[in-house]
Amino acid sequence: MSSAQPWRQAIVLSRFDLADGHELLLHSCEDCACPVSDEQAVHRHVLPPPAAPDDSCWVRASDVAEFPLEGEYRLLFNPLSSAGVVVVNGSALDIFRDFRLPAVPGDVARSRPGRAVEISQAFGRLAQLELIHPAGQRPRPEFHDGQVLTAWLHVTNGCNLRCPYCYVNKSAEPMDESVGRAAVEAVMKSAVSHGFPSVKLKYAGGEATLNHRLVISLHAYARELAAACGLRLYATLLSNGVRMPASLIQACKAEGIRVMISLDGLGDQHDIQRPFVNGKPSFQFVERTIAQLIRQDLAPHLSITVTGRNTSGVADVVRFALERELTFSINLFRDNNCAASFPDLRYEEQAITEALLKAFAVVEDLMPRWSVLGSILDRGQLLEPRQRSCGVGQDYVVISQRGKVAKCHMEIERTLGDVFAHDPLQLVRQDRTTALNLIVDEKEGCRDCSWRYWCSGGCTVATFRATGRYDIKSPNCNIYKSIYPQALRLEGLRLLRYAASG
Ligand code: SF4
Ligand code: SF4
Repeated sequence: MSSAQPWRQAIVLSRFDLADGHELLLHSCEDCACPVSDEQAVHRHVLPPPAAPDDSCWVRASDVAEFPLEGEYRLLFNPLSSAGVVVVNGSALDIFRDFRLPAVPGDVARSRPGRAVEISQAFGRLAQLELIHPAGQRPRPEFHDGQVLTAWLHVTNGCNLRCPYCYVNKSAEPMDESVGRAAVEAVMKSAVSHGFPSVKLKYAGGEATLNHRLVISLHAYARELAAACGLRLYATLLSNGVRMPASLIQACKAEGIRVMISLDGLGDQHDIQRPFVNGKPSFQFVERTIAQLIRQDLAPHLSITVTGRNTSGVADVVRFALERELTFSINLFRDNNCAASFPDLRYEEQAITEALLKAFAVVEDLMPRWSVLGSILDRGQLLEPRQRSCGVGQDYVVISQRGKVAKCHMEIERTLGDVFAHDPLQLVRQDRTTALNLIVDEKEGCRDCSWRYWCSGGCTVATFRATGRYDIKSPNCNIYKSIYPQALRLEGLRLLRYAASG
């Protein structure tokens, strides 16, 4: 652009421009062992101060991807930085492109007379967001150790539904109080001895509400122990949503326990894969529970599992969630022994990609203030660079109804010891025989992928089941590569809508 042409003030937007930005980052950790902790989300809110122009040469980061967005706006994304999606207008894009080759900021300003202040400010923002960097000092991704020890407490092995994709070899056996207390004690001890400041308990099963009295009493005990140990405590109740006793709702509200409900579609689309034991449909019960929770100011998070059966209804259930201002996550069916006799659960790449893109269109239509980048991409998340797709073997323990310890809830029967005699975290960290959760750079096919520090190569248990290997890319790789750019676009549109308006 020549100096004679009209120009608009350079605009550079990122999630850090949202006043409540860190609270709007949602992780899909409610139903898996998410490696991004709540503490890390808070840390990300702090950016380094903007760089002041000096006489050194700066250059645009070579890995930055550019996508068109809306009108003059474009999206910039540096996969090796923690800054996330950045939206720029045409003027800011011109300044960014001025650093295609190493350039001194002062020279760039002089090439655009009358815009020195604006260029200095835009330069500072682009540098702060690691889109340009001092020549020869390419940004490197920063990885953080987990700050939250997450424990799956399998409070019952029983369930009133018979979802064909469920990996639990069900029985009526509940966890009893003594096992539950021993489990909570062991988790707290693990957290303290391994230096975690926080613990997150997931009350799960089976159907956790079938043992709701234990959930309530265990949580009270966990709260006492956490306070005595100086630990922060988070908790989530995972439920099929068929019925939620009033006492449990009150306890969740009083104790700040989040509720996650599985909802796979509307009407038949849900019932086709979440029937009662007797085969009857469950949707109307789940819908009623969701309405009840919303009325009682305990808005649930919805977990949507996509299989070959319900692909056509994913967009509808996403619309259902957004119209009620509910957060949600989308998970792709993971094959397992219990589901082996239902071949129609397996999905076609193209069908599932199309279904996800239709759901993304609904997100665009009803754009929420919160970022969907951590929750709509199965095991991928585009919120924070990371080396592993989940916390298995690092900061996640699974405890069965009998107090046995396993690495992943999908492999709850592959036990390593128990909470009565062992430090559960030590057990899972030492184990080299089950669910090897390798870093993404060790996975064949992932090492050179530009998405690697955001995707991390997918669920290790699912990959092993499909390929017999842990050190290889996810069988969902093609799906992931198709949806990641579209997800970034959604984030760009969110920033345009909410960050631009302050
Ligand atoms: S699974 Fe595919 S998209 Fe993910 S990091 Fe590996 S190669 Fe990249
Ligand atoms: S191994 Fe897979 S199923 Fe298990 S916690 Fe990790 S992502 Fe979830």
